[in-house]
Amino acid sequence: METSEKIDGICPYCGSAQKLLQALTFQGQVFKRIWKPCTCEASVKSLQEAEQAEKDIESKRREREILSEARIKFREAGLPETALNRKLANLQHDDHNTEAIRKAELLCGGGFAFGIKGLWLQGPVGTGKTTVLLAIAREMAARSRRFGYVYAGQVQRSLIASSTADWELKSEIERRLSYFLNADVYLLDDLGVETRNPATDSLILDIFNTAIDRHKFVCVTSNYTIREYCNLYEGMTGQRIYRRLAAMCVTETIGGTMWIDGART
Ligand SMILES: [Zn+2]
Repeated sequence: METSEKIDGICPYCGSAQKLLQALTFQGQVFKRIWKPCTCEASVKSLQEAEQAEKDIESKRREREILSEARIKFREAGLPETALNRKLANLQHDDHNTEAIRKAELLCGGGFAFGIKGLWLQGPVGTGKTTVLLAIAREMAARSRRFGYVYAGQVQRSLIASSTADWELKSEIERRLSYFLNADVYLLDDLGVETRNPATDSLILDIFNTAIDRHKFVCVTSNYTIREYCNLYEGMTGQRIYRRLAAMCVTETIGGTMWIDGART
């Protein structure tokens, strides 16, 4: 590529002559001439539009890439594709959830830097806690961070399944648990609804211990406050787990009326 002959171009918008910046040649033949862009309003506008269109294409491509990566991560974590619909940036803010969404954004943007190691989203049933949790999952996936998801109501069933003689089911449950424990972020949905027995208690305590030992992020939704949740455990266990959770998590309460399909009712 080299510059050659000087030929003035004509601006297609205002008709004024433009300086040749560069003529691209191949085997002595000019195949492309680049003129200094005209500074008239129409020419500048058209250049800006072309740049914007290029940016739009790039951001759509990136969005598709993120979505397909998120889809894989959701599948691996055992979440349905429909759970992908919520994005943190698109959640409708109101008096009841603005602070929770802000904390979720801090957590996703590298919460450790802000001293956030865990987020405890507390509030009544149906007020949008899980929506925020799933938006965190999507955000983490977009940032190539692996998250594990557990719905507390399923813990007991999983434990029973893992002790059956059904080899396939057993190995699937074990794979899920190992995926969960190796994730960067632990998402625990509706903590407190699980059946209280020594087996479920011990699994949940294991999860919290692993989170602390391996510096994981934890995000919990629960109808209970941390204190109320810990009171569900008997004796010393409750106190031990309280100390850990309280040190790890900031609490945000989401109240208000029922949240259905991304809006308050
Ligand atoms: Zn012009």
